[in-house]
Amino acid sequence: MNPTSVAVIGASEDQKKYGGRLLRMLLSHGYRGQVMPINPVRESLLGVTAYPDVGATPVVPDVAIMAIPQPKVRETIEACAARGVTAAIVITARFSDAGAEGAALERDIVSIARGAQMRLVGPNCLGIISPAHRVVLCSSTALAAEGLPVGRVGFVSQSGALMGTIFDKAKEVGLAFSHAISVGNQADLELCDFVEYLIGDPATAVICTYIEGLKDPRRFATLAARARAAGKPWLAVSSGRTRAGAQAAFSHTASVAGDRAVFEAVCREEHVTLLDSPLTMLALATSLADHPSAQVGRIAVFSPSGGEAALAADEIESAGLRMAVFSEATRAKLGEFYPPSQSANPVDIGGRTVGDGPDVVGESARIAADDSGTDALLFAITTTPTLDRVAGEVADALRGDPASPVPCKPILYVFETGRLADAARRSLLERGRYFSNNLREAVDVLAAWHERSHYLAAGSPERPADCPSMADENAPRLPAEGTYGETATRDWLRRYGIRTNEERLAHNEEEAVEIARMLGYPVVLKVVSPDIVHKSDVGGVQVDLYSNDMVRDAHRRILANVSERASGASIEGLSVQTQIKGRLELIVGARRDAAFGPIVVFGAGGVLVDLLSARAIARAPVDAQHVIALLKRLPLWPLFEGYRGARLDLAGVVETIVRVSWLAADLAGSQSAGVDFELDINPLMVSDVTSCAVDARLRVGARSA
Ligand code: ADP
Ligand code: MG
Repeated sequence: MNPTSVAVIGASEDQKKYGGRLLRMLLSHGYRGQVMPINPVRESLLGVTAYPDVGATPVVPDVAIMAIPQPKVRETIEACAARGVTAAIVITARFSDAGAEGAALERDIVSIARGAQMRLVGPNCLGIISPAHRVVLCSSTALAAEGLPVGRVGFVSQSGALMGTIFDKAKEVGLAFSHAISVGNQADLELCDFVEYLIGDPATAVICTYIEGLKDPRRFATLAARARAAGKPWLAVSSGRTRAGAQAAFSHTASVAGDRAVFEAVCREEHVTLLDSPLTMLALATSLADHPSAQVGRIAVFSPSGGEAALAADEIESAGLRMAVFSEATRAKLGEFYPPSQSANPVDIGGRTVGDGPDVVGESARIAADDSGTDALLFAITTTPTLDRVAGEVADALRGDPASPVPCKPILYVFETGRLADAARRSLLERGRYFSNNLREAVDVLAAWHERSHYLAAGSPERPADCPSMADENAPRLPAEGTYGETATRDWLRRYGIRTNEERLAHNEEEAVEIARMLGYPVVLKVVSPDIVHKSDVGGVQVDLYSNDMVRDAHRRILANVSERASGASIEGLSVQTQIKGRLELIVGARRDAAFGPIVVFGAGGVLVDLLSARAIARAPVDAQHVIALLKRLPLWPLFEGYRGARLDLAGVVETIVRVSWLAADLAGSQSAGVDFELDINPLMVSDVTSCAVDARLRVGARSA
């Protein structure tokens, strides 16, 4: 990341060529090390001595960067390895990004590099831009412009062109980087390697990433914990939110995204903030660099336009943020500049009663910022006679310390104005402040920041005392591969202390009546068959049976239904079980995620399963506090809080989910790699006083379609 010498292989003077841009960008942005262009036919390029090959350089290059035809890459990597180069950046594409042949070549160059302890970046990448070190190892045309502003945001991107684009755009709005790294195909060094570097890098305060797929998901999670411990926020934009996006990403860099919902859940657990747009991510990162631990929820709005201020207030409230409520003292101070109706939030600075001096605006922003009820400010700048000065005035007034441009509280400047505001924009750029040109984008930044204040501290799940431990010698043996119906699965649930209803298998009508009388009415009858997954779909469930006759009748009906709708299914008998009254049916599931290991999933179940599709996901095992936090985010939460008289058994639900998570963790821990499991309790019947699993299935073995 900070080489003392660089060989530019394929160097040229032609700015239309990659090798021409690589050389010029490196020379023109203040690199302090030795540059050695490699070109077989030129003695010098752009005034720098050139060498015919990497073996002929006066010193061993720390880094060799190459943009050469694909068929030449292998021999060039061999030459670099032989010379003792420590790292090579391969810009050239058409490797694993272009089919099996390219993938084989990619494996070849990696093994050559590994054999010589040389690390590789790429291939198919755009290289590294490192303003903090003044090292530009990147051919992007975005670097043709002068200047290389230094920021404290490190950016690792799985897309090179996206990095170049963002780099260019960022400069325009006052955002800057410590390092920006394009990882390409990640044949050797991958995204997480660079994130690890940024965690330890003193020039970087906040980490941004563009992710299409993770090579090593567990490492991602471990690093996120380390970033957190180091006090460095980690933000990410990840394509693949939609099927179309996932497919595009797949064909682009040949890395797999896995189950999106699980990835999102893990990001939340690990405090990696996901955003939809790279620019919003960088804007949040830049604010976080100044205020890494600020909690943002209550916003003070300033604008010279009453209309813009009102729109901003709407955006803020609908994004889940709140308008700050000023204290009496703040209102009194603002009242010296504004009529009483306008000394509250939002502040229409156009309505001031005292002169036109922009200093009033700065001072009123400061008054609002000093209110302990204000977490952050939004200054939405519209056309005003003092437009040129007003933003700079506010920036100066908010300085926490005269020697530094960092404001005492987070502030976002928004210019919805066109070129008329260019002088005002420049005044912020000169002060090292960034701005947004779009109100929605600025509010997105604040909303994402607000989300961060809901993050939970890392949990410490403790195994409930009566849960068996798989490490224990006397532990029950785990089920072999196969699908387990209600009866067998209930055994497993009970071993883990999960409440289930009473149930017996009946082989004929009279046996069913006998069991029903023993259990006590009302009962439920269900078909038991390894061939039937959704029993009620084939008329295999009869509820509300209050008498012997009703049981007999239900028995007949179930058999008739099943023989009609699932003919050929082998029937083991009918389950007779106690009927459990509930106000809510939950689904509580667990499975092994290919990327992140055992997880629990829960949400509305039973007949609502498809209607209320919102689900919560947590890695297993999980602790009670985390489960409650996730339940609170589900649309069904009000049912636990007294909605229409319902005050459901929260403790029982949480307990069940925690116990299922331990069962899941044990199942995952005991299975050999590549074997999946899937546990489904649907429904968990929840009443005001109890929670009880009345249907459950467990499948151990290969993933079903
Ligand atoms: P499946 O999911 O295979 O169709 P279930 O056993 O989940 O079959 O039964 C379907 C529905 O019947 C449940 O969602 C629930 O509403 C009701 N039900 C099943 N068993 C019971 C029970 N023991 N007590 C009360 N209701 C039950
Ligand atoms: Mg069911």
